[in-house]
Amino acid sequence: MTMLRPRLWTPPHDAAATGRLPALTTELTTRLQQIAQQHHHVKFASSLAVEDMVITDVIAREQLPIEVFTLNTGALNSETLSLLGAVRQHWGIRIAEYRPDEHAINAYIATHGKLAFYDSVALRRECCHIRKIEPLGRALSQADAWITGQRREQSATRTALALAEQDQVHGMAKYNPLAEWLETEIWAYARQQQLPVNALYQQGYPSIGCEPCTRPVKAGEDIRAGRWWWESQDSKECGLHK
Ligand code: SF4
Repeated sequence: MTMLRPRLWTPPHDAAATGRLPALTTELTTRLQQIAQQHHHVKFASSLAVEDMVITDVIAREQLPIEVFTLNTGALNSETLSLLGAVRQHWGIRIAEYRPDEHAINAYIATHGKLAFYDSVALRRECCHIRKIEPLGRALSQADAWITGQRREQSATRTALALAEQDQVHGMAKYNPLAEWLETEIWAYARQQQLPVNALYQQGYPSIGCEPCTRPVKAGEDIRAGRWWWESQDSKECGLHK
């Protein structure tokens, strides 16, 4: 008997979403222009996800004075890293990379082991702290506002996500200009504008993080089911967005 392999998630198609794009794009452009006008040094934290490509597209097209950076954790897939070159080629933008402190990584591995993040939520958070949160603090040190590509629809912990908020941790304004966008709208935009996107989306990854902590999901599963899949639903955030 032939075993049928479960169908993996694929990027969604929705013709109606394309119809909503002109209004959504105008609104997004206005939001980003206003943010750039209201602050001296705005930074955009790109995780190189498809959402981040949408925001990068508007920043590049409008030539907004917003600096784009990413957190290169040292544990990203090659498909994700290859986007750095694709972005440079597509928009002529160089994404600044912030990397973890090497001594902290070596001390973590020496004390707990290379794959200790699988052992407990505390050790996983410690790894996220070293590879993401500390570098984020450095990335934001000269900024007075930052932008993310988060959306409300992405997870149970983001349903109340505000378009604008005060980041108490870094002491500055934080903006989530795609908060209201649906996944179908993001993909409609990416297709229409032929944006570069991570090749892993076509391999069943709707949400992409570090290589050892992300896996593909089946069609119909929660879009963040492949992130830290061994943990319970309510602990699935890396701590970047408090
Ligand atoms: S996602 Fe995994 S590898 Fe990446 S920083 Fe967090 S625990 Fe470490």
